[in-house]
Amino acid sequence: MAEKLNVHEMALMQFHNAADAINLSADIRRILEKPMNQFKVNFPVKMDDGHIQVFQGYRMQHNNVLGPFKGGLRYHPTVNTAESIALAMWMTWKSALVDIPFGGAKGGIQIDPSQYSKGEIERVTRRFTYALGQTIGPEFDIPAPDVNTNAQTMAWILDTYLLTVPPHERHAHIHVVTGKPLGSGGSEGRDKATGQGVVYLIEEWANDRAFPLKNATYMVQGFGNVGSWSARLLKPFGAKMVAVQDHTGSIRNYKGIDPDDLYQYVQSTGGVKDYPQAEAIDPDDFFASEADIFIPAALSEVITEDIAPKLKVKLVAEGANGPTTPHGDRILREHGVSVIPDVLCNAGGVTVSYFEWLQNKRSEFWDIEEVDMKLRRRLTKAYRHITNIAKQHDCDLRTGAYIAALLRIENTYKHRGIFP
Ligand code: NAD
Repeated sequence: MAEKLNVHEMALMQFHNAADAINLSADIRRILEKPMNQFKVNFPVKMDDGHIQVFQGYRMQHNNVLGPFKGGLRYHPTVNTAESIALAMWMTWKSALVDIPFGGAKGGIQIDPSQYSKGEIERVTRRFTYALGQTIGPEFDIPAPDVNTNAQTMAWILDTYLLTVPPHERHAHIHVVTGKPLGSGGSEGRDKATGQGVVYLIEEWANDRAFPLKNATYMVQGFGNVGSWSARLLKPFGAKMVAVQDHTGSIRNYKGIDPDDLYQYVQSTGGVKDYPQAEAIDPDDFFASEADIFIPAALSEVITEDIAPKLKVKLVAEGANGPTTPHGDRILREHGVSVIPDVLCNAGGVTVSYFEWLQNKRSEFWDIEEVDMKLRRRLTKAYRHITNIAKQHDCDLRTGAYIAALLRIENTYKHRGIFP
């Protein structure tokens, strides 16, 4: 059966599966099906050659019953309403299941940043921030980096946002974004947080089945923030990276690709293409590589019904958001492939974002050991909780994760009721 679902339909299907499993109240289901707020802005920016270009920016705020809206901003040509709503819903479940007091949001700009100069990207970012206005705020909606945005982008957003508040209140607003550079209120460990979380969870999975990570092989799709950090943090276990794919190409070397060396190469060239210590392979062959672990860390809808049967791995650790379609998921299940679902697997990012937000509010600076220890504790607890739920409900970890999140949210709605 051909798959024609977009990411929004995919997110809804996952939600309803879990809602059915726990017989979620029909009222709560109706509330959670839809985002609370949707913002779409068209804003003009002056380009380097003097002409004006108008960009489309998005911010979808799915739910804030557990705390302020929270989620990344993505700069990519595919950014649109449906994708942003799906990603915002996933943020709601993610925050709920790792038990942090945030809701879910997501957004970004429909743009291919590789086509613009750094100065243009800065002006686009600042003008977008201005256009969002009070749509974001440190106690209301807190953006963070996502695809093609980073600590620099957050610093521009912070600087622009602060200019919109009175001077004597500015310092009290620096938690309007997370993922900031260290010198601008960022947290130790935020840059690597998502990859670090992916690796902590792979460790948990491996410990559960006495699977040795020493000499285990892994392949990674996407070698940006999440992919490169996951790859580099797995190296000390003695695991071997054998294949990598990014937007520039696919490479493989069964003798092992050194993630730190590849990282340096990608920093200077912009992608894995022509990396001299590996052979270039066809993008389709990448998925059929012999490896134990696959870390998708790029875009959504990668492991489809066509790609899933090609995978030879034992574990898919979803660094990316929404990399597996429902049909892909079914095939992985049938083939006995374990999946650490995105809402848990990449929750390290939002967890350390929460730590950054807390440090900003308390004017504290935690050292890396404290951040890592707190991150590990939270993710391990969530993993155990979800594994138990999956056993109780005889379901996969994804549905288990959704159930954990939905029960927490449902409970809060039950206490508070609906106004009026
Ligand atoms: P990034 O911009 O740093 O890296 C994206 C990577 O994806 C790049 O290596 C790029 O080459 C690759 N890519 C893009 N298009 C591709 C294609 N068609 N085929 C193969 N590779 C392609 O982004 P990131 O922050 O690492 O985010 C990656 C994923 O992780 C996204 O799904 C994002 O939502 C998710 N995520 C990120 C964070 C975070 O803290 N940054 C947190 C949670 C989830």
